[in-house]
Amino acid sequence: MTYEMVIGLETHVELRTQTKIFCACPNAYGAQPNACVCPVCMGLPGALPVFNRRALELAVMAGMALNCRIHRHSRFDRKNYFYPDLPKAYQISQFYHPLCEGGWLDIQTAAGSRRVGITRIHLEEDAGKLVHDEKNGTLIDLNRCGVPLIEIVTEPDLRTAEEAAAYLRKLRAVLTYTGVSDCRMNEGSLRCDVNLSVRKPGQPLGVRTEMKNLNSFQSVQRAIEAEFRRQTEVLEAGGEVVQETRRFDQRTGRTSGMRRKENSADYRYFPDPDLPEIVLDDETLSRLQAQIPALPDQRRERYMSAYGLSAYTAEQLTSQRWLADYFEEAAAQCADVPALANLLVGEVFAQLSLRDTQKTGERDASLMTVSPRSLACLSDMAAQGRVNSSTAKTILAALFERDQDPEAYAQAHDLFTLTDPVALARVAQRALEEAPALVERYRAGKTGALKALMGKAMGLTRGRADPEGLQAELLKRLNPG
Ligand code: ADP
Ligand code: MG
Ligand code: ZN
Repeated sequence: MTYEMVIGLETHVELRTQTKIFCACPNAYGAQPNACVCPVCMGLPGALPVFNRRALELAVMAGMALNCRIHRHSRFDRKNYFYPDLPKAYQISQFYHPLCEGGWLDIQTAAGSRRVGITRIHLEEDAGKLVHDEKNGTLIDLNRCGVPLIEIVTEPDLRTAEEAAAYLRKLRAVLTYTGVSDCRMNEGSLRCDVNLSVRKPGQPLGVRTEMKNLNSFQSVQRAIEAEFRRQTEVLEAGGEVVQETRRFDQRTGRTSGMRRKENSADYRYFPDPDLPEIVLDDETLSRLQAQIPALPDQRRERYMSAYGLSAYTAEQLTSQRWLADYFEEAAAQCADVPALANLLVGEVFAQLSLRDTQKTGERDASLMTVSPRSLACLSDMAAQGRVNSSTAKTILAALFERDQDPEAYAQAHDLFTLTDPVALARVAQRALEEAPALVERYRAGKTGALKALMGKAMGLTRGRADPEGLQAELLKRLNPG
């Protein structure tokens, strides 16, 4: 029997506040190193934290959008450990009484729909950043100390790398729709720890390892595949998986051991005496509930019922707010919306990943340089058969280079589908005459030769023949009578 993987994710998300969680320093990405610091976030002795109400509100809204119970009473604990990026030598976090528990998030993959349990969401502060510099050795930037974070912990419910990626995309969609965070993996405002074990289906959970701070969709997926292979090989060789923290190396595509995993006892958690209990009243909760906008699932349902899209396609289109907005704007100007949806998740997504030169695996809005109007127009041209799928691709690539009217472009480059039966007959005739060997092979029963003949005939029209009409003309001549 083969092994299955069991995955639980811990995701850290930076909240979109103006200021840090326990001081008035700006919460800004990309500032001069150590420009946004004060005695509180530098951890100077005697400095006292003051809790940022906006961080609480955003964390509550994240919990609501992820179907959690929001506790009316929660509190902060100190997590004690030493590392140079944490000058206080403890992180203010929530351990005993987290803000949110017991939620879920539905994901769609090509294989269908699944519900992923969310164990808890807690508030905490971020640590600083170590900068490894060729010339000067390791430097420290404390700007990130005290940036508000939520940590979202899932149940061990995920079973494939694809599901893990689908979960992260869905999480990003929900949190960006809600305005809780900008969730930019490349800037570290969404970071993911992967916990993974393997087992034979039906067996109890195996021993897990943890891979920390993966910062792209691609590295999450590759780390999962690599670690699954490694654990399977260890077990097959009669060995045991040890519980530990491992590092994933982008370059080699392998994971390697870093340290034995620490237990919660190692952290000497205790309630932070500097911060009062967090108390939420009914009025605050209903005010925040009212601010939760229409979430991706709602839009997905609407696309399914209004346009007859599959759950998977609709999920893809709602995976980012800009994309859903873009789709709706194009759909309003388009005669065949399902064709538009397929063009988007097919050829347009392919173009976006071609243009994602840093290979972040993110479909960034800035990469989408074709206007909704041009795409709608191209989609209708293709749906009506006025251009075929291969010329549609050519035109799309041209639109990405420079947004323009696809009708005019097709006109100027003579790309409209050739459907005239007389012209198609002439092309078919010529293809057969120029490739007698293929004709012979076809007549000898090698039906694969038809494909080669189609390719040849298509080439004679620079790819713009109506494929069905052309094939009919070829067959008429290959099988006379
Ligand atoms: P810690 O805080 O020490 O990392 P938790 O118990 O909070 O530990 O679990 C962290 C994550 O590990 C959760 O997402 C959980 O679903 C996942 N997890 C726990 N046990 C396993 C396992 N055997 N295999 C895979 N994932 C697991
Ligand atoms: Mg962990
Ligand atoms: Zn500060």
